[in-house]
Amino acid sequence: MIFDKMVELDYEQLVFCHDGASGLKAIICIHDTTLGPALGGARMWNYETEEEAIQDVLRLARGMTYKNAAAGLNLGGGKTVIIGEAPKEKSEAFFRALGRYVNSLSGRYITAEDVGTTVADMDFIYQETPYVCGISESYGSGGNPSPMTAYGVYTAMKRTAKEAFGDDSLQGKTVALQGVGNVSYSLCEHLHEEGASLIVTDINQDSIERAVNDFGAQAVGIEEIYEVDADIFAPCALGGILNDDTIPNLKVKAVCGSANNQLLEDDRHGKMLQEKGIVYAPDYVVNSGGVINVADELQGYNGERAKDKVKEIYNQMDKIFNIAKRDGVTPAAAADRLAEERIDSMMRVKSTFSQNEVTTLSRR
Ligand code: NAD
Repeated sequence: MIFDKMVELDYEQLVFCHDGASGLKAIICIHDTTLGPALGGARMWNYETEEEAIQDVLRLARGMTYKNAAAGLNLGGGKTVIIGEAPKEKSEAFFRALGRYVNSLSGRYITAEDVGTTVADMDFIYQETPYVCGISESYGSGGNPSPMTAYGVYTAMKRTAKEAFGDDSLQGKTVALQGVGNVSYSLCEHLHEEGASLIVTDINQDSIERAVNDFGAQAVGIEEIYEVDADIFAPCALGGILNDDTIPNLKVKAVCGSANNQLLEDDRHGKMLQEKGIVYAPDYVVNSGGVINVADELQGYNGERAKDKVKEIYNQMDKIFNIAKRDGVTPAAAADRLAEERIDSMMRVKSTFSQNEVTTLSRR
């Protein structure tokens, strides 16, 4: 059954990791290393069944292949899921055991933080392997990725505005933001500086007040955010929020935000937005500033260089909108095509030169 799934979507490797002493139970999945070593975070979650954990790691690793490829990174896609309750079941020994498993893959897979894991956990992994990103700044990382993610969202939003309004200036535009957390607050700074008006909502009253005080944002209720008179909607909190209930209410001309998996159903809801004349900026490209920033650690982190790479999201969005027009598909489908075309072209290069070995990258 597992091989059927691996064959169906062309997975390279699944590694089941167990360490009796620390209680570690983890699964590392490498989906595709055509463009380079597989980079993707380690997610700790209390999965009810092993089947659920396997499904999740397969889905997430493949997602990283597309995200890294569409972001223009020379990296493949992979992921780790750790079965357990965070932080209760964590220990130094636990993450060092995982670090030894990552190291045993000799650079085919590079891990990082994800849901349920922290910088401190990555530091433990780093004691065992150089194939880890998102470690402490004192070890040479770029620190909190949220400002860089936000800068990427801002860059993507400019290119999306050009698509929707014919001009990439955000001056005088009204942006409705769902959630004003780490990424979104930093995004608000860029938008405010450019002269955009902001409408915000959050479940946390303090976050709303901060945006109102700092940027003169207009605060609205949780459900109202879908219906406000704005130019651009920026979902920066939750997944699945573009669906049958919300899309009919949207008055905006574009959607561009940091949240993952915004479309409840990729194909159907992507088309629904298109039919309403709303330009949708594919979330996994929009929010790729975080992974671009963390991946820069592999060359010895340089903030300026990382920012330059994040700026490239503008050009990646350009390619996506062009593919969408060329093939008559939604931008969400075009982002997948961009990733697939990049991987296919590299496969041709590899077969031409018979170089199937994976280039390894690490911080040491
Ligand atoms: P965060 O937790 O700091 O911010 C999320 C905000 O959304 C919080 O202020 C929270 O109170 C608010 N929120 C939660 N439920 C809400 C609701 N129903 N309505 C309105 N607001 C609600 O998280 P973040 O790091 O800013 O990330 C935001 C999104 O971007 C997440 O979906 C995350 O997966 C994605 N993302 C973040 C990064 C990054 O670098 N942090 C990178 C890629 C993707």
